[in-house]
Amino acid sequence: MARQKTCPPARPNPGPATMVSRDIADVRDRIAAYRYDTGGKIGLVPTMGCLHEGHLSLMRASQAECGLTIVSIFVNPTQFGPAEDLQSYPRDFEHDLGLAENEGIGLVFAPSAGQMYPAGHATTIDVGDLAGILCGKTRPGHFTGVATVVAKLFNIIRPDSAWFGQKDAQQVAAIRRMAIDLDFPVDIRTCPTVREPDGLAMSSRNCYLLPEEREQATSLYQALSLARMRVSTGETSAAKLRRLMKKSIAQNFLVELEYARIVDPSTMEEINEIEGQALGVVAASVGRARLIDNMLLNPAADSLR
Ligand code: AMP
Repeated sequence: MARQKTCPPARPNPGPATMVSRDIADVRDRIAAYRYDTGGKIGLVPTMGCLHEGHLSLMRASQAECGLTIVSIFVNPTQFGPAEDLQSYPRDFEHDLGLAENEGIGLVFAPSAGQMYPAGHATTIDVGDLAGILCGKTRPGHFTGVATVVAKLFNIIRPDSAWFGQKDAQQVAAIRRMAIDLDFPVDIRTCPTVREPDGLAMSSRNCYLLPEEREQATSLYQALSLARMRVSTGETSAAKLRRLMKKSIAQNFLVELEYARIVDPSTMEEINEIEGQALGVVAASVGRARLIDNMLLNPAADSLR
């Protein structure tokens, strides 16, 4: 059966050529030259490629504030577990480069795994409790891998700002924690989740979904929307909202729910009552795809920042 293709088509009018650097020394030289010539601000958009509108929204936000936006494309092996999809993760570098060019991106940094993790690499970053809850429970080591690669990118590129999607809310919380704890002088910025017209959060992994799975995958968004609506009409019990989300998702037999919780968006710890900011978070397996989604449940709030 045909799988859903989520990558957007390249636009017909490419902008100026994007430089590609595959080497740490080379990217540092180019950045030093840019800083010397212009003194402009540098924004970093870390990605694993297979770019879609979600990634492009981060690029556009960075471009609006920074003189140079650098997009990293690196499928980071250390954030994948042994039974996960590292080998089959979708990759299409030429297509990604076309999209980056169309956005007027100045520089793409696409190192090899050997560049990022040379023989003997041993140092990792542990973000503490955040790494062991929610997605960290089923993906041990994942947030250590994410924090380590992002710290390396920060040290290689030394961006003024780095741009992340709210879709990966736990990742944002982990990176903010790391930047504060390790004094990285980088402004961590979050952009709203970009969705398909039926609400499914865009993801490079959506291309794994078979047609019927794709239909049922919107149940994550529907459950979060339902919880948000209940909060807007006065519900404050997290337990009730959790049950509501579970029940709503359970109607979809192809969706195997991993968790549905209500958490504090900065710590990702569960809350009992909706008082300040509350984030609904869900994760589920749908066919071959592991999908996550989240939504701020307080009315009128559509982004973490
Ligand atoms: P990835 O390539 O999946 O590692 O994602 C790279 C960045 O794009 C991360 O900061 C993600 O949170 C962000 N991102 C992925 N999907 C979306 C989306 N649908 N909307 C907004 N940002 C996204």
